[in-house]
Amino acid sequence: MNPDDSVPGGVYLCQVSETISCGACCGLYNVADLSFEHLSAMLRYRTEKFSEIPRTMDAILAFKEHIEEKENQHRPVADFHHCPYIGLIGEDFARVGCLLHPLGLGNNGIDFRGLSYHGGLACGMYFCPSHRILSKPYKELLRSSAYNWYSYGLMVGEANSLLEDKVYSPLFE
Ligand code: SF4
Ligand code: SF4
Repeated sequence: MNPDDSVPGGVYLCQVSETISCGACCGLYNVADLSFEHLSAMLRYRTEKFSEIPRTMDAILAFKEHIEEKENQHRPVADFHHCPYIGLIGEDFARVGCLLHPLGLGNNGIDFRGLSYHGGLACGMYFCPSHRILSKPYKELLRSSAYNWYSYGLMVGEANSLLEDKVYSPLFE
């Protein structure tokens, strides 16, 4: 099956390549210091730490507690959740992704996203406004123009803001 058939709008934006993916709706950028260096170090630590824990409910929830104790919990957007389970995925851990996803390293096909704040259904079914509202050429442009996961996620997040505010209508279908 063409994976694009499974998403609203026909162009998948969340995962693009080994180095390009997005975690904007997981709250990736809702942190006190959103520099590339800080986010990279934060994601690297989480990924390494998560790789060491057993895949039990207690251990996964304890991981969340540990991360939240260790990291600055100031959220620039107070009512927007930041998920402690976003980390690095892929062959070289070169893009952002969900540590609880069934395809995640060590998860053995089990979907642990039900232990997250939003729950497994929301995490698996949510598609941001860019999927539905941006025209296909703009979505293709978005997918092909990013340098890495960091700039890509910022562009997707910015596009979502513009769409929600309806300030840039030429982008719409
Ligand atoms: S903000 Fe949109 S493109 Fe990014 S991960 Fe969420 S649904 Fe996917
Ligand atoms: S559990 Fe949900 S919100 Fe958290 S990283 Fe995974 S997909 Fe994103």
